[in-house]
Amino acid sequence: MSSFNEVIENLSHYHPYDTEFQQAVKEVFDDIQETYESNSKYKEAEVLKVLTEPDRTLRFRVSWLDDQGNVQVNRGWRVQYNNSLGPYKGGLRFHPSVNESVLKFLGFEQCFKNSLTDMQMGGAKGGADFNPKGKSDKEIRNFCHAFMNELFRHIGPHEDVPAGDIGVGEKEVGFLFGQYLKITNTFVGAITGKSPTFGGSCGRKEATGYGVIYFLNEILEQIEEKGEGKKVTISGAGNVALYAAQKAIEMKMKVLTVSDSKGTLYCKEGINEEQLESIKKAKLEGKQTLEEWCENNNQEYFAGKKPWGVEADILIPCATQNEVNFEDSKEILKYDPMILLEGANMPLTDKALNNIADSDVIYAPGKASNAGGVAVSGLERSQNSTHLNWDLEEVDQKLQDIMKRIHRNCLENIKVDGRKIPYKKGANIYSFNKLADTIVAYGLK
Ligand code: GLU
Repeated sequence: MSSFNEVIENLSHYHPYDTEFQQAVKEVFDDIQETYESNSKYKEAEVLKVLTEPDRTLRFRVSWLDDQGNVQVNRGWRVQYNNSLGPYKGGLRFHPSVNESVLKFLGFEQCFKNSLTDMQMGGAKGGADFNPKGKSDKEIRNFCHAFMNELFRHIGPHEDVPAGDIGVGEKEVGFLFGQYLKITNTFVGAITGKSPTFGGSCGRKEATGYGVIYFLNEILEQIEEKGEGKKVTISGAGNVALYAAQKAIEMKMKVLTVSDSKGTLYCKEGINEEQLESIKKAKLEGKQTLEEWCENNNQEYFAGKKPWGVEADILIPCATQNEVNFEDSKEILKYDPMILLEGANMPLTDKALNNIADSDVIYAPGKASNAGGVAVSGLERSQNSTHLNWDLEEVDQKLQDIMKRIHRNCLENIKVDGRKIPYKKGANIYSFNKLADTIVAYGLK
């Protein structure tokens, strides 16, 4: 029976260089130590040692042809983290920053996120260090086909159901699923995030961003506040950021910023619906950078800056892990916002998180607030297995109900004192208990 410290030593022993993975695990450990220490069954089943080691990590070479006919070689992975609560489920990320540590942290987070939804989904994550930026459609197709030539043998509707993430959208999922179908000749829900024309769910691409704002509405209701007129800053300019912005604008909030890796768009009056549609065209279809968009549309642009210097009530980081550092958090605490909720996975460094958690800012972790994406992926899986298609209204209603349920789940094990709502602790304990009880029930995992 391992003590808490032994588990931490074990983690450093097996994963010495995986800094992001260690960061994600320690963030959860801060909240679950008491429940682990006080439950002898959890100790007997070694649930912490089990949960800090992925079920398996698949690593493979991806060889593909570029437009000049040259062979290119990348590395691909699928971290099948834990399938106690259902078939492995989680996205694929194509980005040069992808490595084993990042995928293990994302797989670990995914287990906790999926547990919070109460749907039958285990946790996984995969991807490649392939950079889709600047590649032609033909090169992206070649890469996706080569990636699936290896991945297909490890996935399936009852085994592992990948989806999109950074660098993998509807287009890439189309190429991946097309190749899966060609190899297996089996039309099943082995991937989600497909186009609705071939088995995808309505509302999937909007789901993460909309879900973030539905979760925000739950927080606002809990503290008896209204969203209308609140100033919101958002980072990122992908699906999560822009659909969160769309829903926030619909709810009459003032969205002051979105950003990309090069800088921040700042709109003092709040971005309007028409402007947002045009930003979507520019960024989601890869037509313009934010800088170009600002130039063409007479908007302020802060080159090389993140949004966090702009005073706001509600902050929503939607770009990527560790995008908000300690210095940013100090800047943020100067104007003392009301809420910070995460659209991205682990967007705060550990130091930034400690700083925010010690303040009066209400903080919602991504595993709760951004779970709408994987939840609608879960709905896509249900539609695929029953051969039914639900319309947008039905999916959106289900998404709203799921975000309400996640919010309730977060509150189940914590004490709420006015505006002091430890969402992170609530999310971690709820998810951990479910995972741990299941591992105990299985006898051995
Ligand atoms: N990549 C998304 C996430 O971080 C969605 C995964 C999925 O749809 O399976 O949750």
